[in-house]
Amino acid sequence: MNEPHDHHHAHAAGHRHPPQADHDDTLTYYRRLEIAVRELLIEKGIITAGEVSKVIEDIESRSPEGGARVVARAWSDPKFRELLLRDATSALTSMGFELALFLDTQLVIVENTPDVHNVVVCTLCSCYPRMLLGLPPAWYKSRAYRARVVSEPRAVLREFGLELWDRVAVRVHDSTADLRYLVLPMRPPRTEHMSEAELTALVTRDSMIGTAVCRAPS
Ligand code: FE
Repeated sequence: MNEPHDHHHAHAAGHRHPPQADHDDTLTYYRRLEIAVRELLIEKGIITAGEVSKVIEDIESRSPEGGARVVARAWSDPKFRELLLRDATSALTSMGFELALFLDTQLVIVENTPDVHNVVVCTLCSCYPRMLLGLPPAWYKSRAYRARVVSEPRAVLREFGLELWDRVAVRVHDSTADLRYLVLPMRPPRTEHMSEAELTALVTRDSMIGTAVCRAPS
């Protein structure tokens, strides 16, 4: 470390672009409100800053891979599938999912069959099975999806590239803060030989929202 400036110079020389603007979020009304309420709750000793960080960390650590593991287990184990449909919280706990943050939220698994296709929405805002899928995609929160999937679900699904037979009934489930839905997609044909881990890789986020179906690798 005789020449402490070497690294700095090399770094600067490699950066051949104009200075970039910062992308800090705008301090909107609701962001300001959230900060004010959070700081008051901390100041009054109702919650701690550490607890807030832990909750954020928990939510950010979740991804659709969690839901995919649950679906693959349900496809592979009829007893687990039966428990999942009857009492999702018990089924998830048996798989080791940490649900302490979600104890006030009921989770309902809706099963696709050859006759019924399920789709999930939150018409009011963005309620979503975050315990199994992580944060919702932007389109899930959009006004267009929230309004249209209720009034013209088949047209919306077609835009997602999902064409359903006319004889298949489409059920749209409206989530709330207390009640979240996850779709159990149908197991694709010709996957009988696959292990649970291989099946997990076939389960997409959108298939658990209901805007897609699972397909076997061709
Ligand atoms: Fe919501």
